[in-house]
Amino acid sequence: MMEMAPHSMPKETGWIEVITGCMFSGKTEELIRRLRRAQIAKQNVVVFKPEIDNRYSEKNIVSHNERALPSIVIDNVNKILSLSKDAQVIGIDEAQFFSSDILKVCNTLANNGKRVIAAGLDQDYKGIPFEPMPGLLSIAEYITKTLAICVVCGNPADKTQRKTHTHERVIVGAADIYEARCRKCHYIPDEEK
Ligand code: ZN
Repeated sequence: MMEMAPHSMPKETGWIEVITGCMFSGKTEELIRRLRRAQIAKQNVVVFKPEIDNRYSEKNIVSHNERALPSIVIDNVNKILSLSKDAQVIGIDEAQFFSSDILKVCNTLANNGKRVIAAGLDQDYKGIPFEPMPGLLSIAEYITKTLAICVVCGNPADKTQRKTHTHERVIVGAADIYEARCRKCHYIPDEEK
């Protein structure tokens, strides 16, 4: 895991960090860790998440191990601009569920001197890149890819296996519906290829 030492952080400008990987890889945990450290340094932190993610809590971002941070639920990523005027650090969780406007929003924030930390899934359950994450990775200064552990063989895992058969790209859920798999153990059901 990349650790950003204070001396390596840019001065007098903002920047974009992206934390990405499959489910159960610790993305939200890492996002919370970075945001908490900023809070400890008395920086003004604000956290956003899309309306769709209501797995554990309406108002908090919560990692699978249940560490929580108060967050603002928004239905449109453009609302971040007006809601983060006083913030120095802006966290965005489940970034894959926002529209591609997130690129413009993150660039605007960073250009205005803010530190932006976005976490999200880089692939859907078929292993297809999950827009807008590929674009977000391209404009970020810092990228952390988090890996899970394959539940089948124990290899490092970067794929999300869906255990139910449905064609919808987005089903909100956790361990009951999804598990982490490595490239060798991940499969797409025949009827969905
Ligand atoms: Zn495996």
